[in-house]
Amino acid sequence: DASDEVRTRVTVISACAQDAAADTDPERIRENIETISSESSRMSGIISQLLMLSRGYEGRAHFEPEEIMLKEMVDSVAEELENMADARNIRLHNEVPEDIRVNADQSLMTQLFVNLISNAVKYGKDEKDEKDEKDGGNVWIQASDTGATVRIAVKDDGIGISAEDRKHVFERFYRADKARDRSGSGLGLAIVKWIVDMHGGTVSVQSEEGKGSLFILELPNKR
Ligand code: ADP
Repeated sequence: DASDEVRTRVTVISACAQDAAADTDPERIRENIETISSESSRMSGIISQLLMLSRGYEGRAHFEPEEIMLKEMVDSVAEELENMADARNIRLHNEVPEDIRVNADQSLMTQLFVNLISNAVKYGKDEKDEKDEKDGGNVWIQASDTGATVRIAVKDDGIGISAEDRKHVFERFYRADKARDRSGSGLGLAIVKWIVDMHGGTVSVQSEEGKGSLFILELPNKR
């Protein structure tokens, strides 16, 4: 799978580079260079996600759990993703109570929220009626202390995931058909699953097509 994804991109880049080298038309050359630039930055994204998932990285992964104030962490990720959310007219609602703490690795947990929240935005509600601002989508991040665990929910009112796709979304490279017109590598949720495993937790998904999706994490509570 990995080699297919990377090979396809290298083929495109190489063909565009050859065309550009043989061409004299400035406009066509510029278009080819733009394709080379976007394909190589996607490839670079895929490679860094692959490195994160590769066995070598898993062995060497820097894992330093510490006490984290969950609301603050979610705020900083939401800030990072604000432009992306604004561009799709989607509002992020950080509803995590102030007093929830988790014992987690700061950088891995940040990566996990970036992946879940950016998916919720990317596969969020499509603007049907541009005249009505209120019609945009929403993403809610919620958490509660269940005693044994801290339960975290990332919920959206977007396109949803079919029952068949729900069985596979945490697999490496799996992408639902509907996702194919949106950029991505199919590695984001595999990384989420890996990070949750590292923390001894679980992740699951519930969804209704056309209504939205709900990702639930359960992290062991080390109070
Ligand atoms: P991708 O790079 O394709 O986003 P992910 O591993 O993050 O890869 O997600 C796998 C697939 O799961 C996506 O291609 C998409 O079909 C589906 N998916 C993930 N999150 C959502 C969501 N919040 N709403 C609807 N579909 C989702």
